[in-house]
Amino acid sequence: MTTRTRLEPVAAGQGMTSQRVRDRLVDRLREIGIRNENVLNAVRTVPRHLFVDEALAMRAYEDTALPIGHSQTISQPWVVARMTEVLLQEGAPRKVLEIGTGSGYQAAILAALGLEVYTVERIGDLLRQARKRLRQLGYNVRSKHDDGRAGWAEHAPYDAIIVTAAAPALVAAMIDQLAVGGRLVAPVGGASSQSLIQLTRRADGGVDEEVLAPVVFVPLLSGTLD
Ligand code: SAH
Repeated sequence: MTTRTRLEPVAAGQGMTSQRVRDRLVDRLREIGIRNENVLNAVRTVPRHLFVDEALAMRAYEDTALPIGHSQTISQPWVVARMTEVLLQEGAPRKVLEIGTGSGYQAAILAALGLEVYTVERIGDLLRQARKRLRQLGYNVRSKHDDGRAGWAEHAPYDAIIVTAAAPALVAAMIDQLAVGGRLVAPVGGASSQSLIQLTRRADGGVDEEVLAPVVFVPLLSGTLD
């Protein structure tokens, strides 16, 4: 596995943002059932504290979602690890589409795993910040400012699609852009109750769907914002 982190995390070896704190998060994820060593390694490598506001950096290695502005959140590490593990279950996909870039952390995890990452975000300000971080850290991620409910047709089909905002139902465009044998993982449901869904596209055109776990995500919204 190649890691592409070029910048050392700020204050490496010190305090609440050190490698030791990140290692402890990895131990915790292992305890609560994350098994894929490549995924655990990616969590060990990617400096999550650089994906949140400085004021929250000391909480970056707690297993919790944190605010990133514009009423959005960086997902809980367990959710990021679990969704990534699901995408890698039948061997590593080559090309992955993420809907909902947010902080860029999930995209960085996928890039650290050596995958070809495409990500779409509807809020321009969040995307600009995410792009800057990803670039500074040396993660190669292609991104677009758009309503991700239309997927990203230009680069389709994808071996895997990960949706990091919840819709009442799966969006057809996303399934259409999934390669045969490809896997999609997404939260589905309303504000009060959501489930993580895994879907595999079959050669006969059908899909196999499985409900994995209850989750909490911000909503998948339409249109774009600057
Ligand atoms: N994967 C992100 C999680 C961000 S929260 C991370 O690692 O930080 C979900 C994100 O989805 C928010 O940034 C929100 O603006 C975005 N989003 C919501 N609806 C969207 C849509 N239709 N298209 C693209 N992005 C969307």
